[in-house]
Formats: sequence, C-alpha cells, structure tokens
Amino acid sequence: MKPEDDTNEESLDPQDWNAMRALGHRMVDDIMSYLETVRDRPVWQPLPRQVKEYMQQPLPRQPQGAESAYRDFLKNILPHPMGNIHPRFWGWVIGTGTPLGALAEMLAAAMNPNLGGAEHVANHVEGQVIDWCKEMMGYTNDASGLLVSGGSMANLVGLTVARNTKAEFDLRRQGVPAAPRKMILYGSVETHSSVQKAVELLGLGGDALRMVPVNSKYEIDIPCLKKFIAEDFAAGYYPFCIIGNAGTVNTGAFDNLSELADICEREGMWFHVDGAFGALAALCPELMELVHGMDKADSIAFDLHKWLYMPIEVGCALVRSEEDHRRAFSLTADYLAHGGKRGLIAGSHWFSDYGIQLSRGFRALKVWMSIKEHGIEKYGRLILQNVRQANYLARLVDSEPDLERLAPVPLNIVCFRFMAEGMNDDALNQLNQEILIQLHESGIAAPSYTTLNGKYAIRAAITNHRSQRDDFNLLVSEVVHLGKKLTKEKD
Ligand SMILES: *Cc1c(COP(=O)(O)O)cnc(C)c1O
Repeated sequence: MKPEDDTNEESLDPQDWNAMRALGHRMVDDIMSYLETVRDRPVWQPLPRQVKEYMQQPLPRQPQGAESAYRDFLKNILPHPMGNIHPRFWGWVIGTGTPLGALAEMLAAAMNPNLGGAEHVANHVEGQVIDWCKEMMGYTNDASGLLVSGGSMANLVGLTVARNTKAEFDLRRQGVPAAPRKMILYGSVETHSSVQKAVELLGLGGDALRMVPVNSKYEIDIPCLKKFIAEDFAAGYYPFCIIGNAGTVNTGAFDNLSELADICEREGMWFHVDGAFGALAALCPELMELVHGMDKADSIAFDLHKWLYMPIEVGCALVRSEEDHRRAFSLTADYLAHGGKRGLIAGSHWFSDYGIQLSRGFRALKVWMSIKEHGIEKYGRLILQNVRQANYLARLVDSEPDLERLAPVPLNIVCFRFMAEGMNDDALNQLNQEILIQLHESGIAAPSYTTLNGKYAIRAAITNHRSQRDDFNLLVSEVVHLGKKLTKEKD
C-alpha cells in the first residue's frame, strides 16, 4: 500500500449532520404519532407473504443511505407489530413499553457505554437502579444485584450462585461431576420452563429438578415437598435449593413463600424466588400479603419489562449475599484487572464480576428515567389496576353462561373457555383453539392459551398499562360471538 492511500480515512458518521438531525426529528415525530394512535389499529394481523420474502435479501454491499433505510422501515417493518403495545394484548406475559422508555433507549444507544466495568457514570446509574430494586423487594442495601436481559437470565444467575455456594466442594474448579452427592432442587410443577433450562445449563441435569405437585389453587403442595426432601436425603442425595413461585406463568399463583423460607432455613438450603412478574406485587399495599416471605429469599429473579412496562429487554437478579454473588462469577483476566483508585480503570465494582456478560448495555437508563418520570407509587397503582381488571374479567366470565372459568384468579391472569352443550373436552379444546386464532386474525384482541388439567384455556395475562374495562367487555363478547358462530357452523 502506498502511503498516500492512508489519507482517505472513512467513518460511519453522517457527512451531513443536519440531514441526520432532521431524520431523527422525523423519526421521533413518526413514532410518537404511532404510539398515540395504537388503539385505532388492529392488535395483530397475519404477516403478509411479501414482507417475509422481503426479509430474504442478499447482504447489501453498497450504501442505500439512512433515508432509504428508514423508508424501508416505515414500509416493511413498522406496520407489522407483534401487538404487545396495544391495549388489548394479553398474550403470555409481555409488557407494553412506554414512550419515554423508547426515547431512553435512544439516549442509551447514543452514549453507548459498556457496563462491564470501568469508572464512568453509567455503572453508577445501574448501581442506583439496583438499589431501588432492592428497596422494592424488601432487601437491605448491602445485598447484590445485576440487571440482565430478563427473567430467564435472572433465574440462571440466581441458580448459579445457589449451586456454587451450596456445593460441598470447589465446583468452579472441579465441575459438577465431582459432587460427592447428587445435588437436587425443588419447585412446583407450575415452575417456569426457564428454571429447568437453567438447571440443565448448570450441568445438574433436568432430573435434578424435582417437580412437586400443586394444590387446587396451583400452589406448591408443601407436605409433598417435605416428603420429597426427606426421601432424597435418605437416598443419599443433597437437597440444596427450593424455587418458590411469586406468580406462576399459567395462573398467577403464589407459593407460600414464608413456609418455603422456613424449610430452607431448617434444612440449610438455598431459597430462590422466581417472581418474574408477581414479585412486583410488593409495590402495592393491597397485594403485598402475596409476597410475604419473599424478602427472606437468598436470591430473587424478576422482570422490569413485564409488570413495570419497561421496553424489552430488562430483568433483575438480586442476591442477598454480595460475597456469594461475586464468588460465583468473578474471574479477572490480566487484561481486565481493576480496582485501582484513578483513571478510567478505577472503580472496584465491575458488573462483569457478577454475571455472564462482559460487554453489557446501558439498560439501566430506561429504568432510571422511567421511575423518575412516574414515581414508583404510580407503578404500584397500575399493577393494582391490572389486578382489578383481571377480577373484572373473571366476573364477566362467571356471569356469562357460555363461558367457563378454569382457574382461580389470585393476581392478573384469567383462564377460561367457551362451553358448548354436549361437547367433550377434545372437541372443546379444538373449538377454543379456533376461537383464539380467529380472535388474533380479526385483530380484536390477543390473549394466549394454556392447558389446565387437559383443558385448553384462553388465557389473558394483564401486564398492560393501556388496557381499559371496555377492552375486557369486548374480549368477552367477541369470544362468545365466535364460539356461537363456530358451533353453529358445525351443526
Ligand atoms: C416470563 C417469565 C420468565 C422468563 O422471563 P423472560 O423475561 O421472558 O426471560 C420466568 N418466570 C416466569 C414466571 C415468567 O412469567
């Protein structure tokens, strides 16, 4: 290469900053109008074939420019949402996001810091947010925590600390096969799949997670749990952890966390709570009783992108013992040595010592700004509002002769089905599945489904700050309408 070739240096910055600024203004205008009018559009629509095909283009070699990329977004992406920002989306457990949350994501991306470590303000923002999370969950300030992608990762972090801390040997050095006794965990059959995934990833084997039956309210059967633990001790295994549910994904059930905490204390076991959304009940005085005992947990996993309505992704893992937390993850290579007093390399608290990721994004900013925007009490009121809406929906279902409710409603999840005279469960399952699909395709509402005791249930999980009572009236009348139409077509 000739020396003069080096002078043609490039960058990814715009050549015309004013044009980029104008484009940014337009994006903000467009997106605010989009959010403002979200109620006027269908919740969801089938994705057109052309759009799917359009997403199979070859790798662009030459520039198309920012304007063109944005036009493409407006044409091919923005009109085809998942629907979870809509007031009548109640599928799975997915939050809605907020306008300021979206803007905060933009600010975070513009600053683009790496929260793996080093001395810069973003790490202190995350530290602040984690302190707020401890306060919300009733932990003392000396506890430890980490913002993560969501509940699945928070469960993995919590259970990793549980495994490494409770191991009777140097697990990090020797690995799981060196265990003198097989390590066993316990959770109810209603425990979320991400817990099993975590147990598998931890090398303990899916069988190490004992699935304990539930009572009629879908809460862990405690006498049975005690029996399983005693049997496992007697068989020479090592029961080391109980996973308590604060809000199960199927029905929103709460295990008796207080009793689980007592058992763990008595048996020297780790107590982990999966409170993906239910843990946030701690924010309303009216619901706090449900999470009684959660503050005794050794670790808590919960989401901020579900029932705090933050943009996806953000969840939180809290660990009561900072030392246990750090010991499970810290591994400092020479090129990452830290703890100095001066310069960018200072800062003794590097978040990369507390989790799996080294490079970490600034997800803390949207949380910090949103909580400042509204104050935590408003979040508590919205959570209660969703719970009251669930109770309202349950009453609507109960008073409608064509509908049958399939589970208690302890929190924000309602499971029900359309009933038709003379149909067995198999036929009803097919019918209700068709009702759900037509409900989605019509764009009117988007609940999801689950199966309870072999019965297909239409399931509305309400973690939506945009829903209003009329939205539930519409859901019920539409399910009844579709059910009647479909049974008539059959005759
Ligand atoms: C959603 C959920 C999870 C997983 O959280 P993600 O944020 O989706 O990773 C875990 N447990 C329960 C009870 C959940 O509802």
